Amino acid sequence: MTANGAISLDTDNLETALARFPRDRAMWIDGREIAAEETIERRSPAHGAVVTRVPRGTSEHALSAIAAARRAFDTGSWPHETASTRSRVLLRVADLIDRDRELLALMDCLESGKPIAQARGEIEGAADIWRYAAALARELSGESYSNLGSDRLGFVLREPIGVVSIITPWNFPLLIVSQKLPFALAAGCTCVVKPSEMTSASTLHLGGLLAEAGLPEGVCNIVTGYGPEVGAPMTSDIRVDMVSFTGSTAVGRAAMAAAAATLKKVSMELGGKNPQLIFPDADMDAALDAATFGAYFNAGECCNAGSRLLLHADIAENFLAELAKRAASVKVGDPLDEDTRVGALISVDHLGKVEAHIRDASAAGAELRVGGARLSSNGLFMAPTIVAGVTTSMAISKAEVFGPVVVALTFRTAQEAVELANATDYGLSASVWSRDIDTAISVGRGVRAGTVWVNTFMDGTPELPFGGYKQSGVGRELGRNAVNDYTEEKTFHVHTGPRTSWWLPRG
Ligand code: NAD
Repeated sequence: MTANGAISLDTDNLETALARFPRDRAMWIDGREIAAEETIERRSPAHGAVVTRVPRGTSEHALSAIAAARRAFDTGSWPHETASTRSRVLLRVADLIDRDRELLALMDCLESGKPIAQARGEIEGAADIWRYAAALARELSGESYSNLGSDRLGFVLREPIGVVSIITPWNFPLLIVSQKLPFALAAGCTCVVKPSEMTSASTLHLGGLLAEAGLPEGVCNIVTGYGPEVGAPMTSDIRVDMVSFTGSTAVGRAAMAAAAATLKKVSMELGGKNPQLIFPDADMDAALDAATFGAYFNAGECCNAGSRLLLHADIAENFLAELAKRAASVKVGDPLDEDTRVGALISVDHLGKVEAHIRDASAAGAELRVGGARLSSNGLFMAPTIVAGVTTSMAISKAEVFGPVVVALTFRTAQEAVELANATDYGLSASVWSRDIDTAISVGRGVRAGTVWVNTFMDGTPELPFGGYKQSGVGRELGRNAVNDYTEEKTFHVHTGPRTSWWLPRG
């Protein structure tokens, strides 16, 4: 950002980046690269230039991808492969992701507007998840019961659930598909994947890596396009057994309703309005850093954003004054600049919605402390924003703004803090900042959220499950059960030896 607040963009840097990967991409259906009659052109939200063109898939493409996945499941080898073979393929994919890290990071950076250094970290994280799934593939097992009597034996097999539709959003393109696909493959499922129409390149590139790693044809099909055209058949077609969706609560609800007609299993990772509760005895420096990171990481376009600060009244004013200084020091700018911390927002429509939330909050009596406006540039940049004086009756205290905007509310007692934390329909995550173990644990237990961080924020590792309470989702991803989620249980009840008792009396 320059002294007058404008963003300077390095066009040479952009040209060099664009020269590194092909702009035109194809879909993957039944092991073949498939084009469509129309393409979707993606412009970098930071630079305005066209960065990729992907096929605008149709419902016919989705149906033929579902047919290919069904065939690969019903007659192909993948569901019957050994754990050793499946895990070896997943490990190869992880190595290939590492090999192409820079290209994948550039694709996600240029299509979404996120900073390049952050994108690299996401690609590394994605490769790590593929390795974790490969480890879980070796562990997949059922249960046995030998305590049912000497003539009876029970055992429970875990079989792959079948064809899985995987639908992902734009904010963490390769990372989110990597939270689903390797676990479905580890279970022996076959898949149809639809990335967001705005950020499809890295997922399509992954299709090539899967083929290179030796995944059989038809096991993973990738169709690009819009939700109503491609996503809708993926949630309603009877040949699909499970829908794994990450996106907004509104679209997730519709996807779940569509899946209900044929009683598919669903896994839903949806929105959040996550509280960060700060008590007076917290390590203030650490809490301020976390609050800044939580509010502005990925330009706030993050399901886990710490977008709701709940501050003890005794420290609220000092905390907000310090936070305003840190917000001003956050480097907003060219996503290709290594030092940038906040890049561009995803689209002009989305930026307009973020601004409308701030306008409505101001009209309702909230106080804009810093930011609140877009930065003068052709790109879609917005200043880190703090909205204070917010009450639970204001829409901004409940809605997922999904921009670099944090709202602040105050509390006096721990009970009031918990009530405020729970005063939204979401329940994805929360953090509690206190040096007092009783406060930290009891407040954390009172908050209805799928993840609670104590004296830290947005730490993640594949070993720990992730997902939401309330309208933040259904089910959990990652963690030791991540492969089990993509299985059905089959109960075997076996009788051995001569039958000694019968329903009808024997003469
Ligand atoms: P979105 O709901 O608009 O879109 C998600 C996906 O659904 C896209 O691929 C889209 O094309 C597709 N889609 C749209 N209409 C569809 C339909 N009728 N049937 C099937 N698919 C359809 O979400 P978005 O704007 O891409 O992403 C932002 C949202 O994702 C935010 O709400 C964020 O909180 C949420 N999110 C949640 C998590 C999590 O793990 N809980 C992670 C990342 C993002």
